[in-house]
Amino acid sequence: MDKKAMYHLTYGLFVLTARLGEKDNGCIINTAGQVTSTPNRISITVNKDNLTHDLVKESGKFNISILSEDADFEIFKHFGFQSGRTADKFDGYHACKRSENGLYYITEGTNAYISATVEQTIDLGSHTMFIASVDDMEVLSSVPSASYAYYQSSIKPKPEEKASTGKTVWRCTVCGYIYEGEELPADFICPLCKHPASDFEKATL
Ligand code: FE
Repeated sequence: MDKKAMYHLTYGLFVLTARLGEKDNGCIINTAGQVTSTPNRISITVNKDNLTHDLVKESGKFNISILSEDADFEIFKHFGFQSGRTADKFDGYHACKRSENGLYYITEGTNAYISATVEQTIDLGSHTMFIASVDDMEVLSSVPSASYAYYQSSIKPKPEEKASTGKTVWRCTVCGYIYEGEELPADFICPLCKHPASDFEKATL
């Protein structure tokens, strides 16, 4: 079995937004797709650790804003590398508007948004899958959607080019964070993007 086959699956990238009471939040997901066309339904899968997960589960409503190739790394840092439990991600954030359902969608670095209402919830252990009917949607730009591969090759900052020192490091493949050391602890969590040790690759600086 070659586990690298999984890398050949293609994924888009999305800002998932939800609102409960007066609390708005958003996070980055790569797991949205259309599952039926008549009626029009989409699915999303969200890690239970995300505050947005709880907002979707409690409110039964969400928006996804589809990230496009003109999205800059700041959007990923803003919605992906901090938690809504400790920061209000919409405090002072201007690249957003409310759609008809009252939820935010993201207006820059995105090419469309979709508003949906949850129909089914499937418990997958670490994650919940939500199957939802589409209520509304708008196209925002004609810039192509950003795939996960495009994020890796063209949005994520490149490792700095320096004269080789021969030093062994571990690089987070999600955000580029560098851990200095010969061995990466198995329980290491990236301090920037919170991904586990399995998302790090060995590199030589
Ligand atoms: Fe990281």
